[in-house]
Amino acid sequence: MASHLTKNISLLTASHQRGLAIYKWTLSYAFKELRPEISMIATTQLLLLTLGCLYGSLILGWKLLRRYLFKRHSGIPEIEKLGETLPVGQKLDGTAVICGGSIAGLLAARVCFEFFKHVVIIEPEEWLATEDSMRRFGWEQQHKRTRIMQYRSLHGNQALLYTGLQKLFPDIDEQFRYSGIAVYPADRKANFAGTLIPAPVKSYQGHLPKTFCCSRAGLETLLRRLVLGRGSYPNITQIAGTVIGILPQSNDFSRLSRVKIRKADMQMEELNASLVIDCTGVTRAGMKWLSQTGYGITKDRNNGKIPLQDAKISLDQKLHYSTLTCNVTPATLEKLQIPKIETVHLEEKNDEGRRLFVLGKTDGDRIVVFAGQSSDTVVRYDSLNAMRTFVQDFRTYKDPLPDWIFESLDILEESQPDIHFSHVRAPPTSYVQYHKTVNLPSNFIALGDSVSSVDPIYGQGCTKAFLGAVVLDSVLRAKLQAHAKELPADFSEQFFKEHFYKTDIFWWASANLMNVAIILIWNMMLRQFTHVLDYGIPSTTPIQGESLQVGSLVRWYLRRLQILATKDEQAARVCWDISMGFNTSVDIFHPWLVLKVFFNTIIE
Ligand SMILES: Cc1cc2nc3c(=O)[nH]c(=O)nc-3n(C[C@H](O)[C@H](O)[C@H](O)COP(=O)(O)OP(=O)(O)OC[C@H]3O[C@@H](n4cnc5c(N)ncnc54)[C@H](O)[C@@H]3O)c2cc1C
Repeated sequence: MASHLTKNISLLTASHQRGLAIYKWTLSYAFKELRPEISMIATTQLLLLTLGCLYGSLILGWKLLRRYLFKRHSGIPEIEKLGETLPVGQKLDGTAVICGGSIAGLLAARVCFEFFKHVVIIEPEEWLATEDSMRRFGWEQQHKRTRIMQYRSLHGNQALLYTGLQKLFPDIDEQFRYSGIAVYPADRKANFAGTLIPAPVKSYQGHLPKTFCCSRAGLETLLRRLVLGRGSYPNITQIAGTVIGILPQSNDFSRLSRVKIRKADMQMEELNASLVIDCTGVTRAGMKWLSQTGYGITKDRNNGKIPLQDAKISLDQKLHYSTLTCNVTPATLEKLQIPKIETVHLEEKNDEGRRLFVLGKTDGDRIVVFAGQSSDTVVRYDSLNAMRTFVQDFRTYKDPLPDWIFESLDILEESQPDIHFSHVRAPPTSYVQYHKTVNLPSNFIALGDSVSSVDPIYGQGCTKAFLGAVVLDSVLRAKLQAHAKELPADFSEQFFKEHFYKTDIFWWASANLMNVAIILIWNMMLRQFTHVLDYGIPSTTPIQGESLQVGSLVRWYLRRLQILATKDEQAARVCWDISMGFNTSVDIFHPWLVLKVFFNTIIE
């Protein structure tokens, strides 16, 4: 029995061992055959997982960065707070003196109304205190604006400006209507050198933000009526005179006490000031007053700050503006097929100097025909015929310019309208870097073109002035203590810091950035690329110490982005947001968009 069992066990063991051997052989065979497949699947899965994680982190990083930049730079959260009521007792018992009564000055005055018992605007052009400067229709004005060269040039308005003005003046829509200024969804029929970039209507769920069609004269006239002409802000007054200097407090050099004015009748006057705001535009008179009084000078360069004399940087794109403003009859207006908002065509090739053509409606029954050209020599297009020759010669990307442009020029010519011609050689674009300047008085600030001007073809100047006023509102809101007797000692510094955050991106100072990698990273922080784009034009004189090569990589990327935007909603949305002031600097670098731009470059 035992041997039988032993035999069976040994048989079993033998068969078990054989089975085991077969099993092992099968497995090893299967593995030998399958291993490459399994490992390939696993590798692919691992690769996909890694790519997924990488992409996920990129998107997350991009979203966090965008949120930060939106809060820090866009000005939109601060715009939301405009007009919010202040706690009782927060109005300062003093005078805000605003030097210059144009776009920046009027907006600053409106903001200061909330925070100061008295607001005084000093403006040299005497007629700007009369009825004519606030009339219903800007185009009926009798006087000429002598200090604003672009008063009768082409003027575009960004949708962000419209959004902001609605907050500052709640009845602005009614006032626009009253002044013959139309408000439309901002579909500018943007294009890449003739090829349409569709407006991102779908991306805005059918509600494209609006803007208004209005000349520079019309906008200034309306703002002046709103601020000075309706009695809505009784503590704002205007004096006809020129600010010629500033005076420090006798016992405290860090604070200004008065401004010196030469009035229209040549009498001198000194006016008490709790806050002095330079809104003198490209005159930049504030720089002169400060240096004459001994500000902006120091022996040591504390905290990387610079003397005032080194604060200004400039580049010159030698831009010539020819504007024909045609007064047409309602019948001609009806016949014309011009889109509601102007159509802007920017030539792609810059080798002979960038050229730009615009056709659009402005306030009233008026059509603007515009030719812009960067050139070392003077260029003027002073008739409809000259404009036609200009567009016939226009170098486009793919398709020729649409027929309706030529048809519209024909209709305009046949109707023989009254035409006003304006030629302007735009001044160099300059930037006074007050945020870096040492030893400024604590109650002196500047906004609008007195700080920086940008390339006018992007139509951002008035949005920039508006954002300056928004910064003024937010810093006063944060810094002005209830029942305070004066502004805090760090007021000017805080203002210029915030002003830099909100507006530097319009201009972007790349001085001393030599390294391409650094340039790219800096460019990623931009909201607008005007300065970098101007370097693509051979006639541009760059900032001292820079070369026109600066930003060439970004110029290449932006060109590819616009080409993609002609057929891709996401890219079109980013381009539209940039042109209307709603973007952040990283929008163009959304990871998915970057992939699409590169893919499209390969396949096209
Ligand atoms: C050719 C051209 C086209 C443009 N196109 C556009 C466009 O399409 N869209 C856009 O948004 N922007 C455009 N801009 C820019 C825009 O016009 C300016 O950004 C805007 O006018 C700035 O307003 P501001 O009040 O800062 O300065 P300004 O409008 O220049 O006003 C300065 C004021 O200060 C006064 N002043 C000067 N010196 C003194 C002094 N010593 N004391 C007191 N007052 C003084 C002047 O009389 C004037 O009223 C364009 C600019 C140019 C040159």
